[in-house]
Amino acid sequence: MPRVTRLDEDADHLSTLPIGQTDGQLSPRYAGLTTFARLPRREDVPVHDIAVVGVPFDAGVTYRPGARFGPAAIREASRLLRPYNPQLDVMPFRDQQVVDAGDLLCNPFDITAAIKEIEEGAHELIRDGGRLVTLGGDHTIAYPLLRSVHRVHGPVALVHFDAHLDTWDTYFGAPLTHGTPFRRAAEEGLFLAGASAHVGIRGSLYDPQDLCDDMELGFTVVHCADLETRSVRDVVTQLRHRIGDAPLYVSVDIDVLDPAHAPATGTPEAGGMTSRELLGIIRGFKGLNLVGADVVEVSPAYDHADITSVAAANLAYELVSLCAGGPGEPASTPQATH
Ligand code: MN
Ligand code: MN
Repeated sequence: MPRVTRLDEDADHLSTLPIGQTDGQLSPRYAGLTTFARLPRREDVPVHDIAVVGVPFDAGVTYRPGARFGPAAIREASRLLRPYNPQLDVMPFRDQQVVDAGDLLCNPFDITAAIKEIEEGAHELIRDGGRLVTLGGDHTIAYPLLRSVHRVHGPVALVHFDAHLDTWDTYFGAPLTHGTPFRRAAEEGLFLAGASAHVGIRGSLYDPQDLCDDMELGFTVVHCADLETRSVRDVVTQLRHRIGDAPLYVSVDIDVLDPAHAPATGTPEAGGMTSRELLGIIRGFKGLNLVGADVVEVSPAYDHADITSVAAANLAYELVSLCAGGPGEPASTPQATH
């Protein structure tokens, strides 16, 4: 049983306090049913501030499949997460109600239908002020997630960590793939041109024009090779200046990490970021108004020792922690469970 982690003198208020993780002193972290970070399910609590939700969808991949198994693997790898985040100095599960909202169920054969189902499922979780951290699934899902966030917050600053631009137009004539979500999002004005960025880009392209086409959509690019000469702090400064006080959406394709740090992904590219560099940049967003995030493209069958799932679980933890408050952070509004 989850237990109340923040006690109050007034028992009448207990039902409204955040319910934290299952106590690791009472139940070993490797025991019991699996939810993200051993948090309560959405249906176990009356309200939530942040929903962690899975989207087991991988019908949009262009190379190695298997990201439909990502959410389950990330949840399993999240069992070790503890209540205090020392780098950000927050107790992310005490100061806000975080829940595992299960998986958004979507059609595995009809991408257009799946896009609509993901958008509606995500919107239902955030329409009353909640925030969303999504576990993918392939990167196609970022498009309907951005649509749902746009319906609540309007255009967002988008920081996209990836080896790939994901702003191509079509693949085999298909407009909805994991290589096109941010082209579709740009066409609908879902993110703020001029406030958005790709980080970690590397690897081969189809044509030199790919980068020019991408720039016209409003992105700046922090190439992975830039990290040979630029510090994490320097990149954070640039990104924070670009984001300003806009609502922020962070999309993390796990292939932004070097295959040494994330071997289990569909389109691996050599020469990537370390997990330390990526965690460092994301922690640098403390105090910004993070309204939503996703961690995608974990395809666990290509892994050994759960390396990729562990990285993804830790990234999701940092993203949840960013929502836990800091300078300039607006108060979150709990929403009723339906
Ligand atoms: Mn990628
Ligand atoms: Mn991607």
